[in-house]
Amino acid sequence: MPIHLYNSLTRNVEPLTPRTEGVIQMFVCGPTVFDFIHVGNARTFTIFDVVAKWLRYRGYEVTYLQNITDIDDKIIRRAGEQGRDPLEYAREYEQYYRDDMQALGNTAVTQYPRATDHIEQVKAQVKTLIAKGNAYLIEGDGWYYDLTTFPDYGKLSGRTGLQADDAVSRIDDAEKKRNTGDFALWKLSKPGEPTWDDAELGAGRPGWHIEDTAITQHYFGPQYDLHGGAMDLKFPHHEAEIAQQEAASGLVPFVRHWMHAGFLQIDQKRMGKSMGNMLGLREALKRWSPETLRFFLLSGHYRAPLDFSEASLDAAQAAVQRITELLTKVHALPPSQKDDSALMHIITETRRAVEDAMDNDFNTAAAFGAVFALISAANKAFTENRVGTEASAALKAFFEFLSEQFGIVPAGGAPLSADIQSLVDERQLAREQKDFATADQLRDELAKLGYTVDDTAYGPLVKEKIKS
Ligand SMILES: [Zn+2]
Repeated sequence: MPIHLYNSLTRNVEPLTPRTEGVIQMFVCGPTVFDFIHVGNARTFTIFDVVAKWLRYRGYEVTYLQNITDIDDKIIRRAGEQGRDPLEYAREYEQYYRDDMQALGNTAVTQYPRATDHIEQVKAQVKTLIAKGNAYLIEGDGWYYDLTTFPDYGKLSGRTGLQADDAVSRIDDAEKKRNTGDFALWKLSKPGEPTWDDAELGAGRPGWHIEDTAITQHYFGPQYDLHGGAMDLKFPHHEAEIAQQEAASGLVPFVRHWMHAGFLQIDQKRMGKSMGNMLGLREALKRWSPETLRFFLLSGHYRAPLDFSEASLDAAQAAVQRITELLTKVHALPPSQKDDSALMHIITETRRAVEDAMDNDFNTAAAFGAVFALISAANKAFTENRVGTEASAALKAFFEFLSEQFGIVPAGGAPLSADIQSLVDERQLAREQKDFATADQLRDELAKLGYTVDDTAYGPLVKEKIKS
């Protein structure tokens, strides 16, 4: 069965049909490098990291581009406040971004093209739009896209007006625009701003939306396979991309499959700079391992909102702890021949279940559910001394696969010593048998030894108490 995915453009789950068989050209809107990113941004980038890795696992040759917006009003403002050169400032924050992606395990991007390295392509596309009658000049301000020349505007989002959750910080609000929604393609230079000369356009810099299509046209051509981004970019940013590229080339559709990632929320509110509720990715990486953060970020369906809370991060931490515990048992197992065919069967079935879940619109939540059913079965088999060399090797291979595809398997060994672990296992067994008196007794015993136990959706989370 081919991979199926939800297409925001048609609002249907459809089979993946790249333009060239076996090859996928994929573009995801990258960061505007004016500050560190927050965990909400990290969710989007982690989702598309896993999408690209999964497509490669399924045999596609994927070119994954993510643009770096390194010239923009916000960058100019921030750099100005610190008395710094905007381009140099942007270069510094680009490096922070790349370091943070590496630290989080987002490694699938093929290339990060910068806006300022593609100014010639931007100018060429603006000139094409002028020649085709889609753009007009506001003297002393810039070249604007005239939305009345593109009747298809709004076909992705189903609307032409702004709503509360749109990324709007860069809406162009020139008074002399022909239509409210018209947006800048080329902004004429203002004193003190980075600027690029052009005899026809006038000295200036790119508008917000044009770099994406100038870059994709350069690397992919006027049409390509897959475009991803956060939900708040659908309107107006992605509508603007469609208007630019489809008008410039006359070819429809510009992008075959559009994917949009849901918001990360805190108390039902979207995490965002403007919401004042954000947690920086760097701060988060100080508190939780990359595996725990990735497990959390991938624990819900990518299109649905995901709630950030201490409890959900505890659950993710417990989940990763259970993976490590099982792997510790696997690695400690002496070679032996046992009838472990029942467990072998479960491992094979689980791999198939993970593949089915991922092939069906990248359902990481369902994939993780299957993994945890396997972990329970494997733990039971260990308790009953039914794991031999064959099943142990199969478990190792399975977790290597999980590590490569999702990045949720820590490299290190057991987080707990063997005797603490056996108390935790005993307590868990007592709980499963509804022997809560014994479970409580074991919790007290663990507390005396300096460990706390919290029960989460993915099993017990054990932490060493902080000594004061
Ligand atoms: Zn973009």
